[in-house]
Amino acid sequence: MERCPVCKEMEKGKYWCRSCKAVFVCPNPRCGAEQKKRDAESCPQCGLIFEDYIVRRKMYRRCPKCKKKQGLSETQCRYCGYWFQCPTCGHRVVSTSMLSCPRCATRLR
Ligand SMILES: [Zn+2]
Ligand SMILES: [Zn+2]
Ligand SMILES: [Zn+2]
Ligand SMILES: [Zn+2]
Repeated sequence: MERCPVCKEMEKGKYWCRSCKAVFVCPNPRCGAEQKKRDAESCPQCGLIFEDYIVRRKMYRRCPKCKKKQGLSETQCRYCGYWFQCPTCGHRVVSTSMLSCPRCATRLR
């Protein structure tokens, strides 16, 4: 175990610090993005909410449009119909104002 750069405790694991819960690498096995923002609630890459994963091993995301929480494996918001990924090519939809996929031009609403 290494020393955590945030709280300086010897509790830094591979993905997060067990002492202060700072996340260094996204623990989603399909993501693994390095986390630069120390106070982020969720991964900017895949949307995983860190607290739910660290405390309960549950993979949730929050819809950027309606803010409702749901499973990370959903491709479309169950509440407002917002696409998290393009239904055709799987491209990540990063903005709530995107009307079509920038990669394959599938209409997103
Ligand atoms: Zn720490
Ligand atoms: Zn991630
Ligand atoms: Zn939504
Ligand atoms: Zn697409």
